[in-house]
Amino acid sequence: MKIILLGPPGAGKGTQAKLISGKYSIPHISTGDIFRKNISEKTPLGVKAKSYMDKGQLVPDELTIEIVNDRLQNDDCKNGFLLDGFPRTVKQAEALDKFLESQGTKIDSALLIEVPQEFILDRMTGRRVCKDCGASYHVKFNPSKSEGKCDLCGGELIQRKDDTKETVKERLDVYSKQTAPLVEYYKNKESLCTVDGTQEIEEVFHSICDILGSDK
Ligand code: ADP
Ligand code: ADP
Ligand code: ZN
Repeated sequence: MKIILLGPPGAGKGTQAKLISGKYSIPHISTGDIFRKNISEKTPLGVKAKSYMDKGQLVPDELTIEIVNDRLQNDDCKNGFLLDGFPRTVKQAEALDKFLESQGTKIDSALLIEVPQEFILDRMTGRRVCKDCGASYHVKFNPSKSEGKCDLCGGELIQRKDDTKETVKERLDVYSKQTAPLVEYYKNKESLCTVDGTQEIEEVFHSICDILGSDK
């Protein structure tokens, strides 16, 4: 099963990705997590990515595409994968199609998690993420069992540097200009499915499972 998660920042992609990846046993590939790991390890990629991420802008396509192509060649992607936060531009989507075509395969579904703008700011300013595994929590809507600690791995929960009011505004702008055109792109390829992301986390997951079915 080869899946893409689409939706604005704060739609719940990361939250659903953890659930989907657990149920269908496919690796969860988040470009944001890959960049953040590189930033914390101060790699050359991390240094480059940080300057864009801090401003809420996209990391350049060439860099991002190369990272994803590399990651998709790992053995664990043979039976499927879940991409969270990639593609984010038409250029990235075209590069992904080209890469998969060269491997004799294609995307099964592009799942769009739809959430209107007025929900987003609350979701993002209340978001807390695990420093170690990237799991997403929310101070009000999805608190961890033990305050400040990840339910999954015990890691410390932190607030992302780009989850401030100003950066969120820029990211929403970037989403509508650069990423929203992908909805049309996948509609044209007949692989788009839409779920209502304003439901509770469990309900969104239920809707997604209904779409994906029980096969792997
Ligand atoms: P994305 O990866 O799309 O940016 P996240 O999965 O990190 O989004 O979710 C953004 C924030 O909203 C997090 O704090 C998360 O706990 C919370 N959240 C996710 N899904 C829901 C939902 N269905 N209802 C309320 N809050 C949610
Ligand atoms: P969110 O969960 O809010 O959607 P992500 O963790 O997916 O955010 O991404 C955080 C930041 O990392 C983005 O604002 C962008 O700077 C960078 N980034 C992540 N994925 C991509 C991508 N596919 N192309 C370019 N930049 C990306
Ligand atoms: Zn964790």
